[in-house]
Amino acid sequence: MRKLIIAGNWKMYKTIGETIELANALKRQLYDLGSETVDIVICPPFTSLSEAAEVVIESNIALGAQDMYWQEEGAFTGEVSAPMLKDAGVKYVIIGHSERRQFFSETNDSVNKKVKAALNYGLIPIMCVGESLKDREAGLTFKVLEDHVTGGLKDLGPEQVEKIIIAYEPVWAIGTGKTATPAQAQEAHKFIRDLVIKLYNKQTGELLRIQYGGSVKPENTKELMGQPDVDGALVGGASLKADSFSSIVKSSSEVKK
Ligand code: PEP
Repeated sequence: MRKLIIAGNWKMYKTIGETIELANALKRQLYDLGSETVDIVICPPFTSLSEAAEVVIESNIALGAQDMYWQEEGAFTGEVSAPMLKDAGVKYVIIGHSERRQFFSETNDSVNKKVKAALNYGLIPIMCVGESLKDREAGLTFKVLEDHVTGGLKDLGPEQVEKIIIAYEPVWAIGTGKTATPAQAQEAHKFIRDLVIKLYNKQTGELLRIQYGGSVKPENTKELMGQPDVDGALVGGASLKADSFSSIVKSSSEVKK
């Protein structure tokens, strides 16, 4: 039985003060949710990570970052490394989000280097994969998913893949208000799990947690999370307000599989 994991990707929103306010509100609203039902993660921008860590320390909310560089340190102006994230109290790191692929030239190769570096330093990568609308309309959804999954996991062993989280995020559903239907999400998640079983083995595929991301809201959470191969959500817009994110987390915790 895979535990659901709900992560909020705050993107380039929230100052330090706003981060403290939102993290405190989430802590208040979610304090009584048993950690056995669902993992809760918030991913504020780099500038607010340390302050967010102070708020969520010893709570049922874990901290994630939105990206990292694969080198440990050096002359890489503007970058942040895995040990720096660990030092700030981070446990998870989003890698290869479609916005990074689209606007910052992220490739399967850079995603793979970042995933390996994150694992080497004890961070849990949330590796994003997903097709564009053009890909879907051209019938290329599974081909793109196969490229993203095989490219991102290149040279990793099964015991490493078991630690990773994959987020299936159809690009056409991100920030657009268009959600994949539960059947579309299930189909893509099953494809990814079967691919991992083919590339590794049954146990690795069955342990792998696959989140869905793309306009997840309180109203569509239960149906999406109820799909057999959907193991959580990566939430953008709806994670920026305490009420909507808490409601998504609470609805997920009530889902029976
Ligand atoms: C995301 O940024 O990962 C995302 C899924 O955004 P939204 O929920 O706003 O579509």
